[in-house]
Amino acid sequence: MKSDKQIEVLAGVASCQRQARRNKWLYLPIALALSVGSLFSGSLALIAIALLYASDVVELLLSSVATRLTQRQEEDRVVLGYGRLEIATELAGCVAVALLSASVIYHGVMRLNSPHLAQGWIIVVLVSVLIGIELLVFSKPAPTSWRRRKIGTSPPLWSDRLAFLLPVLAGGVAILLLGSGRTDTIIAVLLSGALLWFALRGIGEALRSSLLGAPSNLDAADVVQQIISVEGVQDIHHLHFWRLPEQRLAIDAHVVVTVPNWPKAEAIRDHIEAILIHKFGVEHSTLEMETPDRELDSCHVYGT
Ligand SMILES: [Zn+2]
Repeated sequence: MKSDKQIEVLAGVASCQRQARRNKWLYLPIALALSVGSLFSGSLALIAIALLYASDVVELLLSSVATRLTQRQEEDRVVLGYGRLEIATELAGCVAVALLSASVIYHGVMRLNSPHLAQGWIIVVLVSVLIGIELLVFSKPAPTSWRRRKIGTSPPLWSDRLAFLLPVLAGGVAILLLGSGRTDTIIAVLLSGALLWFALRGIGEALRSSLLGAPSNLDAADVVQQIISVEGVQDIHHLHFWRLPEQRLAIDAHVVVTVPNWPKAEAIRDHIEAILIHKFGVEHSTLEMETPDRELDSCHVYGT
C-alpha cells in the first residue's frame, strides 16, 4: 500500500505529464510554420528542425491512440494489458524519423555540390521567435522521478531543443553577414545526423523493451544495491523488469530478510517500495519477502 507522500509524488508527476502533453500540441503549428518558412527561404536547416518538432507531434498522436487502446481493461487472456502496442507505435515513430532525417542528409549532401543561398532573415526571425516560445512555454523543469522513468525514446527536453535551434540561428546570421551558401546546408546535415542518431537509439530501446529488457536509463545494478542496503535485507533474486503502458516500469523480485528482522518484513517492504518510487520512479512493484532457508536451489539475481 502506498503512503500519502508517495501518492502525492505520483499525482504531481501525472499532473506535469498532462501539462506537457497539452503544451506539445503547440508543436504542430510550429512544425507547419517552419515548413512554410523553409519553402520561402530555401533553408534546409529549417526543414531539419521542423522534423524535430514534427517527430514530437507524431509521437504524441501515436501515443494518444496507443494510450486509448491500452486503457482497455486487462482480462484473463490479456493479463498484462495492451502495453506492448505502445512499444510498437514508438518503434513506428522512430523508423519514420530515421527515414526522414536520412532523406534530409541525402538532399543536403547533394546540395553541397551546388551551393544555394537561403534567405537568412527569414531563418533569423523564425528561429528567434521559436527560442522565445521555448523559453516562455516549455522551460518548466520536469520532476526528477518523471525524468528518471522516461526511456530513451522520449523526445528531447526543451534545453536539448535549444541546442538544435541555436546553430540554425547562428547559420542565419552567418548567411546575412557573410553570404555563405553552404552554411545552412552543413548545419542541416549535422542536425539531421543528430536526429538520425536519436531515432536509431529509440529503435534499439523499443526493441529492447519488447524483449523485456531493463530500460537503458535504469541502472539495474544500482536497484539491486539500493535494495540490499536496506537494513534487514540479506539478499535479492528473481529480479524482473516489466514495461507497463505510458512508459511506466514494474519490478518484481524475491527479497530475503534476515531471521532476526523477519517480524519487520512488512516495514522493510514499505521501505523498499518507497526507494523504488523516489529514486527510480518505479510505481509498480511486487516483492515476495522470504526467509533465508526458503530457497533450496541457487538463485540468480536477475531472471529465474
Ligand atoms: Zn526466492
